[in-house]
Formats: sequence, C-alpha cells, structure tokens
Amino acid sequence: MTWCADGDAPVTYDLLVRGGRAWLDGRLQAVDIAVEGERIVAFLRPGTPARSRETLDAAGRLVLPGMIDMHVHTRDPGQTHKEEFLTATQAAAAGGVTTIVDMPSVDPPTHTLEAFLAKREHAATRCVVDWGHFVAATDPVEIPRMAAAGATGYKLYQVRGDPRLCVESAARLLELFAVVAATGRLCVVHPGSPELFEALSAAAWARGAPRDHVTLCRVAADELPWRVGAAVCLALQERTGVRLHLAHCHAVGVLAMLRAAKAAGRAVSGECDLRFFQFRARDLHERGPLFTPGGFVLEEPGRGEAIWAAFEDGTLDAITTDHAPHLRAEVERQRQDAWSAPWGNPQLEHAVPALLTDVASGRLSLAAFVRATSEGPARLLGLYPEKGVLRLGSHADLMVVDAAARWTIGRERLYTKCGWTPYEGRTVTGRVEATVLRGRVIMRGGEVTAPPGTGRYIAAVPAPGA
Ligand SMILES: [Zn+2]
Repeated sequence: MTWCADGDAPVTYDLLVRGGRAWLDGRLQAVDIAVEGERIVAFLRPGTPARSRETLDAAGRLVLPGMIDMHVHTRDPGQTHKEEFLTATQAAAAGGVTTIVDMPSVDPPTHTLEAFLAKREHAATRCVVDWGHFVAATDPVEIPRMAAAGATGYKLYQVRGDPRLCVESAARLLELFAVVAATGRLCVVHPGSPELFEALSAAAWARGAPRDHVTLCRVAADELPWRVGAAVCLALQERTGVRLHLAHCHAVGVLAMLRAAKAAGRAVSGECDLRFFQFRARDLHERGPLFTPGGFVLEEPGRGEAIWAAFEDGTLDAITTDHAPHLRAEVERQRQDAWSAPWGNPQLEHAVPALLTDVASGRLSLAAFVRATSEGPARLLGLYPEKGVLRLGSHADLMVVDAAARWTIGRERLYTKCGWTPYEGRTVTGRVEATVLRGRVIMRGGEVTAPPGTGRYIAAVPAPGA
C-alpha cells in the first residue's frame, strides 16, 4: 500500500471515499481513497486532511471493487418490452455492478459484424455502466471480422433454447473453436446435451409429471446433460487450445472436470450464476415460476457444498447473474407448458445483497466474493488490473456497502424494466449504498444518477501469444 507522506500539503481531489474499510491487497484495511479523474491516485491514512470536490462518507462501511458481471441479457435490440440497455445498466448501477458483458441472443442475433457494430453503437448512447458484447461464434467468416472490430468475446450454445445460435454437432464445434482460438478471445459456452435433456424430459412426462416449471427445474438440475456437454467442450478445447469458459457450472461432475483441466494448465475457466445456488425447490412450489431454472440443485446432498468449495478454491472464476428478464406474465406461462414458455429472472439489482448475505452467514468468504465478482472476471476479460481491483492507478470502480444492514427486499424502486424480482420478500444482510464508476458516483442511496451514455465500451484484450 502506498500512503501519501504525512505532512504533504493538502491537495484537492475529485473524489474522496472517507472512513471505510477497503479491500486492498487481499484484506480489509481502514483507508481513505483519493480519486482524480477516473483513477485511484492515493490511499490516505484515515482522517488525513485533504480537500475534494465530492466526498462519499463510508464510515462503518466496506469499500469493495465494483462487480463485473460477464453474463447479462439486456434484451436489446428486439425484446425491449422486457429490458433495454438503459434499464439493465441502471439496475446494474443500483446493485453495485460497474461492468457488464451482454449476450448475443437478441433480435437480430449478434452473429455478424454488422449486427455487432449496430448494437454497440446503439448501446453507447444508453449504458450507464461500462459494457462489452459477447458475440455469437456461429459463422467462421464473421468470427475474425468481429474480433478485429473489438468484440469482447464469443458465446456458443450447445442447447436448443435459441435455435439460431445452437451448435449441437461436435464436429461443427471443433471447427468454430479453432477459429475462435485464433482470435485469442474467450469462448463462453452454455454446455449441455439437448438429446439427453429431451430424453430426461420425456421420461418425466411418461411418469406422469406435469409439463410445469417444477418438473422442468427438476430435469434441468439433472447432472447428466451438463456433464456430457461439458466433456465434449473440454475435449475440443484440448485439441484447439481455445480459451474455453463454461457457463452454469453447478454439476459436481462438471466442477471436477474443470478442476482437473485447470490443474493440467489448460486455458479453461468457469462461472456459476446465482439462481443455481440461491433458490430452493420450495420457492418453486410456493411462489411459482419466478426462479426457473434454479431450485433443485440445492436439494441434492453435497451439491451446494461443491459449488461453495469451487468458489473458495478458485475452480470457479466468476459468479455471474445471468440477468434474464422476462415479463411476469411470460414466465407464468410455464405453469401450462414450461418447455415452450420463456425462463429466467432479473438478478442485477439484488445479486450483491444476496451474496453478502452468504458472506455474513459464513458460507462464502469475503475473499472468494471479491475474487469471483471482480478480479476473476477482470482477468478473463483482459481488464485486470485496470479493473477488478482497488489499487493505485486502477479505475475507481467501486461499491460502498453496509455489510451489516438487515432488510427485506421489496418491489419498490426496481430499475429493471420487467418490474419484478425473484428476491422480493427475502430478508438479506448487506446493502449497496453507493456505486462509483471510473471516479464518478453513479448511484447513491438507491438513486441512479448517471445519464445515459455514461458507460464506456470494453474491448477484451486477447490472451498473450494470440
Ligand atoms: Zn444466459
């Protein structure tokens, strides 16, 4: 840590974050943080005389790096009746999230250079946090064109949720992985075996299970399709050297494969999204399809523990939200036929309070929380150490949190356009009181103040040697 020498003449900073305990060098330290322009320029002993144009009082609070959420569905363009860049990034700012990466499953899908550039130009006038775009790696001709134009990374689906973006064939995946590998960028895959998922679904219906959200979530928790899909991806990664990032790593077998591949020094990483370790089956039974496809993972003995252990030992690099807003009426259609209705839930506003509750209960260490919500994603995206850490010279992307605040989440003051949250009624420990993006206070006291266009596009830096 670099302190300003005592006795220095007081200077005027742009922003001072006063009186808090900040996560520096792997631990909490009492410090005042001085910001000039977009960056942290000094760590001052608490109470050091200094002037600033703006001050954030963090007395009794924690100051943590802003969350970097690399799995967000903004629904923009094409489905803006449920979310758009402005409302999604306002929800992010409200929740302590300072950078998002959005997904290509929009309309038109982001799988060509033209679609990517049009989306990026549109988002630039709307976003209030920094943002990037994962583009679809479905066309070998478009993949390098989009990399040259600054695509943050790629996304592929082995599953059939969006048929336009689904790549089921291992031979086709091999070809696409090789093309992505040459760009040096991350390739995020939603792993799965659609064949097995359909067979398990058919078996459940044959046993008389209804086609509702409860049955769907029970089938979705079955490890088998996830393990088979991930095994294919990992084998193809070994062949191509692509930087493979597995989404939705909640299966014990997938976590074991990921851990082994990492131990062998391969370019693999993984994330788990909150719904798989925040929601229980009783949520589905009592309150319906607001939690799909989560709920049943935690019902299996040892499975939650495996996820928590993977956050602690670094097998999982990132916690993501998979913020996936739909209208309440749309998800309610799962009660009739969950296989044809939309699934997913908004998460950006309440992910940090939900996770801080796990920190308070001792289930998640603060070190693992910080690593998985900021440093890990920043490293994968090539943003570290400019982002993902509080250090001299880094972007002042941070959140001030009251880690002891106990409160019940309501539906008031939601920024997400879909207008509901699966966390409504949940009592949590931990509240985000302010969010700072590159030195600018963008949320204070729950009020997002940044105008549209405040965010800046992040183009991932290719891995060394690429
Ligand atoms: Zn997703």
